[in-house]
Amino acid sequence: MTEKRYKHLYGPVPSRRLGRSLGIDLVPFKVCSFDCVYCQLGRTTVHTARRDVYVPTGEILAELADKLSAKPLCDYITLAGSGEPTLHRDLGQIVSAVKELTDIPLALLTNGSLLSDPEVRSAIMRVDLVVPSLDAGDAETFAKINRPCPEITFQSVVEGLKAFRREYQGEIRLEVFLVAGINDSDSHVRKIKAIIDEIGFDHIEINTATRPPAEEYARAVDAERLHHLCKILGPNASVIAAHALPSERAGAVSRDDILAMLGRRPCTIDDVAEGLNCHRWEAAKLVGQLTEEGKIIPERRNDKDYYQIKGET
Ligand code: SF4
Repeated sequence: MTEKRYKHLYGPVPSRRLGRSLGIDLVPFKVCSFDCVYCQLGRTTVHTARRDVYVPTGEILAELADKLSAKPLCDYITLAGSGEPTLHRDLGQIVSAVKELTDIPLALLTNGSLLSDPEVRSAIMRVDLVVPSLDAGDAETFAKINRPCPEITFQSVVEGLKAFRREYQGEIRLEVFLVAGINDSDSHVRKIKAIIDEIGFDHIEINTATRPPAEEYARAVDAERLHHLCKILGPNASVIAAHALPSERAGAVSRDDILAMLGRRPCTIDDVAEGLNCHRWEAAKLVGQLTEEGKIIPERRNDKDYYQIKGET
């Protein structure tokens, strides 16, 4: 069975932190208030902190209602995608509509840059799980790793996180993305830890560049060092482990499904099989065909082959 193509939804895809996640893309590629050196989507093309209706709200909600009518197997509906989702001006309306449509928990992945805006904080009060980022313990490192829009400062991000923690009753898992040689020294991680301790999060997730980054120099921190840094961040910190989802259902998948998935982010064959709920051999066969035809290209990273759409590197 071939699934319909949606413009603003993707997946369910396997997510290292959320299990099987049905993504809602609230901004087009790649509208973001940051231009992180490690971004797996590549460099930011629309670098902005201006909130707007980047994709029509009605279209997003109509697609979601249609998708949910087919009862997709997923653990979370996730507001994320091809940039920073809180830039969508109708975020509050979208959150409310999702909560009306389904009981599936709603997650938000955000770079946290707009949490200093009370409207944004109020828009996401009904989200079940918020995963903001904090990759730096000082303004200099923040500028180096996240390359924010000029109006976003390190201080405004930290203040936004503090205000959000005070007002929001749900779960906040902070992601700390570590890049070798930029923010992975013991002393720098201690600076991040001091901010974390002041704010108080439910959980800290430590990530590193396991997918092709925007900048080649954004290298992964090796596993041993990540675990060492994890200890510095304290008992509620963990390194995000590679996902391992059971193959609960198996179905046919089309070349278009794979192209749509790879259009969002580079994936391994296992990612494709798990995300599209098909046998690994079927994913491998179709990925092989698309590679031979030059529609997608592989890139070797951390001993794994990631596939991406040709021309989107
Ligand atoms: S990692 Fe997230 S916040 Fe950073 S540039 Fe990419 S989409 Fe934006």
